[in-house]
Amino acid sequence: MALIVQKYGGTSVGSPERIRQVAARVAEERRRGSDVVVVVSAMGEATDELLALACQICEDPRRRHPRELDLLLSAGERVAMALLAMAIRECGVEALSFTGSQAAIITDGVHTGARIEEVRATRVREELDRGRVVIVAGFQGVSRDREVTTLGRGGSDTTAVALAAALGASRCEIFTDVDGVHTADPRRVPGARRIPRIDYDEMLELATSGAKVMHARAVEIGARYRVPIHVRSSFGEGEGTLITAREAGMMEDLVLTGLASESGHARLTLRGLPPGMAPTAQVLSRLAAAGVSVDMVAQADRPDGTCQLQLTVREEALPEARAICGALVEDLGAEGIEERAGLARLALVGSGMHGRPGVYARAFEALLEKGIEVYGLSTSSISIALLVDAANETAALECLHEAFGLGGER
Ligand code: ADP
Ligand code: ASP
Ligand code: MG
Repeated sequence: MALIVQKYGGTSVGSPERIRQVAARVAEERRRGSDVVVVVSAMGEATDELLALACQICEDPRRRHPRELDLLLSAGERVAMALLAMAIRECGVEALSFTGSQAAIITDGVHTGARIEEVRATRVREELDRGRVVIVAGFQGVSRDREVTTLGRGGSDTTAVALAAALGASRCEIFTDVDGVHTADPRRVPGARRIPRIDYDEMLELATSGAKVMHARAVEIGARYRVPIHVRSSFGEGEGTLITAREAGMMEDLVLTGLASESGHARLTLRGLPPGMAPTAQVLSRLAAAGVSVDMVAQADRPDGTCQLQLTVREEALPEARAICGALVEDLGAEGIEERAGLARLALVGSGMHGRPGVYARAFEALLEKGIEVYGLSTSSISIALLVDAANETAALECLHEAFGLGGER
């Protein structure tokens, strides 16, 4: 018998009425003969509300009380799972719900950003064998020290794909509030189109670059265990998007598959450094030792024999990065340091761009025409990332979307 894992996001279970609609869909799938595991997110904005409550108790609960925060945040999914189990039973189908801990979603001990290490699916399987639908609270697990952990915002997708991998499910369906993965966030770029099929690598690149329709870890796990992921709307019967391994002939003539963006980036420029790679290595080591993650790095020689180093970090890390770079500039007797915050990082993603000339040219011409300045760039074999002023984020997305014909017929 086919085993399907379905995941329903916050909007999809945002009210008792919607929970009843989801229950009806699950019951129908069960009656068609499949074994069904359902992963559920917290209702609507419940996670934001719980977080806001914690912030009324103290300023930085994530840093000050990570263990208690995880216990608090995990409550959102518990509410949804229990209500959904009741609603499915009201449809005449046997169902029961499990917390992440009961479902043995074993994670590392990193509170508010844990990674799943193992899923011991025995208990879930036993209940499936009894003919029941099993509902599992998304976004949460338990560490080997038996502490409740959460997987980072958007983490219910990861619970679902990890369960699908552990159970050997035939597919994992991600039901959300849009009809699949689009060429850009459809709420930002109205001309964005649904992508019928996308490969894991491209989806991972979009997800890590800000396309929150899928949690990046979920895509990673899907790729590793070859779980086909089907992103669909919970409000209709559309075809959605199938995320699978790359197959011959898949979108081969497209240069670009999609765009993603994320604000909250900042750039630091260190001027007048001594020549050579040593200062760059030193600054990167110091930042790494402080746990500051660096995105883009560009080093340039100047005519006066000194060197200039530019690097970009997340804005939250700016105070720490500034202090570290400032200290180094002083140690080395360099000229000074400049910063530019309020930047957005745009990613142009597509397996088709590899080895194809003219992608940069098209992007820069389009941005130049709109007067949008680029403050940094980096590349991988399937993506180009550009930094622009956050105020230009939407305009840049729209002009690139058009320049690469992403809105056209597929
Ligand atoms: P859920 O609560 O179902 O997990 P999310 O809010 O996490 O839903 O993700 C769905 C949202 O992702 C959409 O409403 C959409 O605004 C946003 N999004 C960003 N990029 C994309 C994209 N490329 N395709 C589709 N949706 C996207
Ligand atoms: N409820 C969690 C969040 O809002 C997890 C999820 O929805 O995937 O981030
Ligand atoms: Mg989500």
